[in-house]
Amino acid sequence: MTITFAELTTMRVGGPVRRFELAQTADQAVELVREADVAGDALLVIGGGSNLVVGDVGWDGTVVKMASPAFDIEGDLVHADAGVDWDLLVRATLAEGLAGLEALSGVPGSVGGTPVQNVGAFGTLTSELLEFITVYDREAGKLERWTPDRCGFGSHRQSVFKHSDRWVVIDVTYRLKRTGQSKPIEYAELARTLDIPIGGTAPIADVRQAVLTLRRNKRMVLDPDDHDTWSVGSFFINPVLPEVPPRASECPQYFDIKGTKLSAAWLIHNAGCPPGYGLDWGNGTVALSSRHALAVTNRGGATTADIMKFAAHVQEKVEARFDIRLGPECDLVNCSF
Ligand SMILES: Cc1cc2nc3c(=O)[nH]c(=O)nc-3n(C[C@H](O)[C@H](O)[C@H](O)COP(=O)(O)OP(=O)(O)OC[C@H]3O[C@@H](n4cnc5c(N)ncnc54)[C@H](O)[C@@H]3O)c2cc1C
Repeated sequence: MTITFAELTTMRVGGPVRRFELAQTADQAVELVREADVAGDALLVIGGGSNLVVGDVGWDGTVVKMASPAFDIEGDLVHADAGVDWDLLVRATLAEGLAGLEALSGVPGSVGGTPVQNVGAFGTLTSELLEFITVYDREAGKLERWTPDRCGFGSHRQSVFKHSDRWVVIDVTYRLKRTGQSKPIEYAELARTLDIPIGGTAPIADVRQAVLTLRRNKRMVLDPDDHDTWSVGSFFINPVLPEVPPRASECPQYFDIKGTKLSAAWLIHNAGCPPGYGLDWGNGTVALSSRHALAVTNRGGATTADIMKFAAHVQEKVEARFDIRLGPECDLVNCSF
């Protein structure tokens, strides 16, 4: 039976996979990758498909889905195979009284996907907690253990894995803290929800609940019945610019090591595309989430071509208004806008 990316991704679009393999263990993942490389077959490694949009042509090669569910906790160290569901790991660490991942509750996807995107939410970045990663180097044909300094984290949502298919993340180890209390909460909206001052701390279970409430309000927790969550989360990346164009001077600005980071959500909203924009545009299958201007969503029946056309339209509106060209935050495979 042919499997399609519409079944493998949270955007629920994309064409067929020629050869699909589930890696049920870490060893099997390495074997499957080696096998495809030796055969010279084009390889795409995926996790939860929550940050990926693939073209309607699909993938004429092998897709390996990381699906090993193995993880263990040893003292403060949490060691998880790439295929472990991210939120399942977060729940397990909190249940063990380990603090660190609570603000990252409810992020979809796999453990292996987190260093690729340097996943972050509500003031916590996964890279801050990383102890080491095991990667399979496809060029050298061997496994290596990497410390975070090799991963190219730094600027917003970047890593060496993001624009390269040379390394496959096999497992990830985090160092957490054996305390029931969170780190200081600097994210204003989260502090408000917890009813604590900015910089205050809270029990980790309370932080998880507050984060899930905030995420559900923004439709950032997957729900198959809610089209606002048929997305990749933030579709466009916050631009980092050496100089802010005068027309965008009112946009919220943040420091980044590569320049000034601007809020893509603000730019989109103020270019005339507020949350919910697009339902009456095109053939009505694609729109921005009704709660979140950064999330492009499939309203049902969309193709990848529909998503790309809509993304290009939003990109043009922002460029025309602010002289800034937004790029994708998600990974686009065999498609572009
Ligand atoms: C509703 C919603 C909310 C979201 N909220 C957030 C958020 O708050 N913060 C945030 O940072 N992100 C968020 N995201 C984006 C997404 O959840 C993360 O980027 C997640 O880590 C992607 O993991 P994945 O396993 O689904 O990766 P996939 O989508 O399967 O893959 C993404 C990319 O990583 C590569 N990849 C995956 N696994 C491996 C591996 N083991 N080795 C090498 N490469 C690999 C793939 O080839 C692809 O290029 C959200 C997405 C959705 C749909």
